[in-house]
Amino acid sequence: MTETAPIIRFEGVSKHYDSFQVLKGIDFAVARGERVVVCGPSGSGKSTLIRCINGLETIGGGTLTVDGIPVTEKTLPKVRARVGMVFQQFNLFPHLTVLDNLTLGPIRARGMPRARAREAAMRYLERVRIAEQADKFPRQLSGGQQQRVAIARSLCMEPEIMLFDEPTSALDPEMISEVLDVMTGLAQTGMTMVVVTHEMGFARKVADRMVFMDHGEIVETAPPEDFFTAPRSQRCRDFLDKIL
Ligand code: ADP
Ligand code: MG
Repeated sequence: MTETAPIIRFEGVSKHYDSFQVLKGIDFAVARGERVVVCGPSGSGKSTLIRCINGLETIGGGTLTVDGIPVTEKTLPKVRARVGMVFQQFNLFPHLTVLDNLTLGPIRARGMPRARAREAAMRYLERVRIAEQADKFPRQLSGGQQQRVAIARSLCMEPEIMLFDEPTSALDPEMISEVLDVMTGLAQTGMTMVVVTHEMGFARKVADRMVFMDHGEIVETAPPEDFFTAPRSQRCRDFLDKIL
């Protein structure tokens, strides 16, 4: 792979759920280090699109590559080693402490010695400013804290790409900014990020490029300054009128 080749590339990707076509010939590439924010109405296919990137959904047609690797059943371990994902519901293991949530993957999947895994985990917990909660259980934390733990847990696997699917949608309003701040910090490290969110303040600040989806298609893609001031399509204008 050359440095300039896209790290994620969709070419004519389609997908059906039975007779319903959820992705309609998606052509889309993300450059290494790029931050892309995906928005669009509910049901437009945003979650499906990003879940394909780490193989949580299989594609029906076309090709999808991550770091040059076609995403297939066979390549899943290689793909998932490169891609971290954070969900709306934090999906922490409830019976494990924060620290054990973070070290499980590195110890089990990577065979990392426990002491080294714990040391690395503490560094990531510090990065999301939650190191003092290391020995607590997820239920003892606020939603915003749990989501920051979920981000730290993903980072422990040292991904090259981070996917976020509406990471602040399940949070009380006062906790949204603490999670967005952590994501902004991550963006500043040069991480490749694909973020589904309706937090347009974050998008304006962090996105290199906006993607607008509707009915299984990418309708529009533009840098935020153009996207927000001069959306080209009526569908996109209607959407922005509703959420801004
Ligand atoms: P978004 O994230 O933009 O809200 P999704 O990707 O979750 O959209 O879903 C797109 C469409 O596909 C929706 O109409 C949804 O009902 C449908 N869909 C999603 N997952 C499934 C599934 N497992 N089976 C059938 N239909 C699904
Ligand atoms: Mg969704």
